[in-house]
Amino acid sequence: AKEGGRGIWRRFEQGMDDRLRERHEIKMGLRRAFRAGELEVHYQPLQDIGTGRVTSCEALVRWPHPTRGMIPPSDFMPVAEESGLIARIGEWVLRTACAEAAGWPDDIALAVNLSVVQFRGGRLPAMVRAALADSGLDPGRLQLEITESVLLDATGHNLETLAALRALGVKIVMDDFGTGYSSLSYLRSFPFDKIKVDRSFIQDLPREEALAIIRAVAIIGRSLSIPTTVEGVETEEQLRMVEQEGFTEAQGFIFSRPMTAQALRDALGVKAGV
Ligand code: C2E
Ligand code: CA
Ligand code: CA
Ligand code: CA
Repeated sequence: AKEGGRGIWRRFEQGMDDRLRERHEIKMGLRRAFRAGELEVHYQPLQDIGTGRVTSCEALVRWPHPTRGMIPPSDFMPVAEESGLIARIGEWVLRTACAEAAGWPDDIALAVNLSVVQFRGGRLPAMVRAALADSGLDPGRLQLEITESVLLDATGHNLETLAALRALGVKIVMDDFGTGYSSLSYLRSFPFDKIKVDRSFIQDLPREEALAIIRAVAIIGRSLSIPTTVEGVETEEQLRMVEQEGFTEAQGFIFSRPMTAQALRDALGVKAGV
């Protein structure tokens, strides 16, 4: 039994080692790739379900790795957040995406994800203002997507930052709605411009529980006059169900996968590059 115990411990230590080494590798690799200009911003449209018109496009960071293939953000964003690299990567994503979106038709908005880490330090509103000014993008066309983690801060600092961002004329979107512990109560704490239902609920359709939740979110949105949207729609059945519940806009592989800036320009019929 003793032997077995030590064996398990050794395997545990070994596993820890592997994970730490992996994290360290990602961290060094990410820093190098970012400096070398190897990260890319891809864009995924949100569309009006009825007309098919593209209403906005979400910027999604991509790391094409020379040997590992495309590393998903879920593997490297946590490392970027831990190491502090997120400040520079986040600013670069925002600036790149704003410059790109300035070349799209005026009626297409840009959605950019913000990490809670970017709320530290008080630089965020000035950074966003500068990105808008330098790109010439109308602030009304920028939607900043945040998750519940931003509202978990008890000091009130993040709420003040959100208010300062909104004062710039940009929209604030509650992303991944329904996944946190207190999504509902956070709707009282800030006047969100839009609610985006988390992909997990859409993927669970047509399950009764998932349907009940998206139905409830649609009702809340209507009662509070907050526009709602959904992400992760993959099938005709899911699309039919969200439309039936009153959602008018959706994002998902059924319409389009994230694509390069150039592929999006081609799809939108935009001529000159930025
Ligand atoms: P998110 O903000 O919830 O973004 C939506 C994710 O769902 C994206 O994954 C998108 O590719 C994926 N998706 C959209 N439609 C479908 C679908 O129909 N089926 C499936 N299976 N997936 C779909 P992605 O690009 O891997 O990004 C994952 C997460 O990484 C994002 O989740 C966001 O939290 C984070 N992220 C990505 N780019 C950035 C960024 O520039 N800054 C920050 N702070 N976070 C980012
Ligand atoms: Ca998002
Ligand atoms: Ca989301
Ligand atoms: Ca998410």
